[in-house]
Amino acid sequence: MSDSHWTLAIHGGAGVIVRDRTTPEAEAAIRAALGRALDAGAAILADGGAALDAVAAAVRVLEDDPHFNAGRGAALTREGTAELDAAIMDGATRRAGAVARVSRTRSPVALARAVMEHSPHVFLAGVGADAFSLEAEAEQVDNGWFVTDERRRQREELLARNADAFDVEMKYGTVGAVARDAAGHLAAATSTGGVTGKRWGRIGDSPVIGAGTWADDRSCAISCTGAGEFFLRAGAAHEIDARVRLTGATIADAADQVLADVRALGGTGGVIVAGADGGLAWRFTTPGMHRARASAGGERLVAMFGDEG
Ligand code: ASP
Repeated sequence: MSDSHWTLAIHGGAGVIVRDRTTPEAEAAIRAALGRALDAGAAILADGGAALDAVAAAVRVLEDDPHFNAGRGAALTREGTAELDAAIMDGATRRAGAVARVSRTRSPVALARAVMEHSPHVFLAGVGADAFSLEAEAEQVDNGWFVTDERRRQREELLARNADAFDVEMKYGTVGAVARDAAGHLAAATSTGGVTGKRWGRIGDSPVIGAGTWADDRSCAISCTGAGEFFLRAGAAHEIDARVRLTGATIADAADQVLADVRALGGTGGVIVAGADGGLAWRFTTPGMHRARASAGGERLVAMFGDEG
């Protein structure tokens, strides 16, 4: 593998993503958005840019797209509000930044990066994260800006069925990216609205460093999506890293082993992994996962359903 070999993979959530539940319009819009996000990250890597910049750029495109459960279009809490979570990690230094329960920041991943770069902390949550966002001069929007009609409808449907449940089946579209740049550095980022009908205050795996997001130049970079409670209990992202680094497992085998563990606990979902050796893997235990990948050799693939690439 030549040192200048860069790779990038993104996801836009795993779930019951099947042809007969997807309109042609939604499919076209989702594929186009995945392609735009992929191209935004790939352009940075092709230009010799950093993996950290590439994952941030790719995630940012999907946060603004209402088809995905991150930023605008986020899954709503039981109360009907958006509480956003995001994380980013730099594999070269293992610096990391994360935010949870952010309510007014247009790009939660940009805020997670600001926590990493402009605060002494790794993880800020709730009103403290909102306050830091103002200090960091991150772009602010009203909470209603994140709310779409489709997410409102999903929340109402859920509450009509069972007011006590939160629904991992209605959450598709958490977004994430992993990359290896031409200098051999890795990075990962994840951004989400969480799960539909979640309790006020609930935080899933996505912003938790080592659960939904992880990067270490010695092994791999990982972004997870799925039923967050189970990914948290599996320590999923760090567990994939540990298997690669300590047992010599391939990134694909490590991903399969950890998804099997998540499944044994009762959860489903998917992961994308970029290896230090330039390899990429994506794995999911759901019928589909929004996903795309590109690399220096000219590979470019956008996929949604289980039977594609
Ligand atoms: N893992 C996210 C969470 O539990 C949801 C998802 O990936 O769709 O917050």
